[in-house]
Amino acid sequence: MPSTSPTSRCSCDSTMPSATSSAWARSTTPAGRGEGPAMSNLWRGHLEGMPHDPPHDPGGQVVVLSAHPDDEVLAVGGWLAGQTDRDVVFVTATDGEASHPGSPSITPDELRARRPGELVEALRRLGFVAPDVRRLGLPDGGLERHRDDLRGLVEPLLREASLVLAPFAHDGHPDHEALGRAVLDAVPASAVVWQMPIWTWAWTEPDEQPWRPSLRRLECTSPGRHRKRRAMAAFETQVKPLSDHPADLAVVDEALARHAAYAPEAVIV
Ligand SMILES: [Zn+2]
Repeated sequence: MPSTSPTSRCSCDSTMPSATSSAWARSTTPAGRGEGPAMSNLWRGHLEGMPHDPPHDPGGQVVVLSAHPDDEVLAVGGWLAGQTDRDVVFVTATDGEASHPGSPSITPDELRARRPGELVEALRRLGFVAPDVRRLGLPDGGLERHRDDLRGLVEPLLREASLVLAPFAHDGHPDHEALGRAVLDAVPASAVVWQMPIWTWAWTEPDEQPWRPSLRRLECTSPGRHRKRRAMAAFETQVKPLSDHPADLAVVDEALARHAAYAPEAVIV
C-alpha cells in the first residue's frame, strides 16, 4: 500500500477513479494504512463492542447523499432497510463513471449508463419499491473542482430535510470529502446530520481517531442485514472482477465488502 494521503493528492483530475475503485485504493492510501482485512477487523470488533446508543433521529424526511452510486448502501444499507416506510430521497453527486480507468471491458460511458440502474436495483432489494433517486451528474473524481456547483445543487434538496446523511467530511477520498463538506455548509440549522464513514474503516484504526466519541451505532435487524447483502450484490460492476485484466479487479475489495456486509453500521454525529 502506498503512503500518499488522498487529500494531499486531491487534484481530482478527470482520470481519478471513484471512491469504490480498487485502483484508487491501491494508489492513494493514507499514511499508516495497513492491509485491508486486518484494519476492517479492528473496526468491526470495536463497533461490535459499542453500547447501543442510537443517534437522535428527528423523524420526517430523510435525504441520503452519496458521491458514487453504492456509497450509501455500503455505509448504512442495513439501517436503510428499516426506513422504507419513510420519505427518503437519495442523491448521487456523480454516476460513478470513473471506477475502471484503463479497463478493456467497460468504458466510462457504459459505467455512467449502468451504475445508476445498479443503485435503483440495490435500493429495491433494500425494500424501496420506487426509490426516489436524484442524480446530480457531476464528474466522478471532480467534486472538489466543482464545489460551487455541488453546493448550488445540494442546497435546494436539503430544504425539507429533517435528517441528512452524507459521507464523512474526513473519509479519506476527495469526492466523499468534497460532498461531506458541501453538505455541512448547505444543511439547514433545523436538520440533523449523520456523517457516514465509508473508506474510513479501511485506512484508520479505532485507537487513533479523535472523532471516535462521536460515533453512534445504528439499529439494524437481521432481515435488514440480509437485505443489505443482497443489495450489495446488485452493484455488479463494482463487486466482481470484470475480467482477469488488472484494471478490471473488483472495485469493492474483499475487506471492504466483508466489513460492509458484517460489521455493525455506525455514523458520526
Ligand atoms: Zn464513493
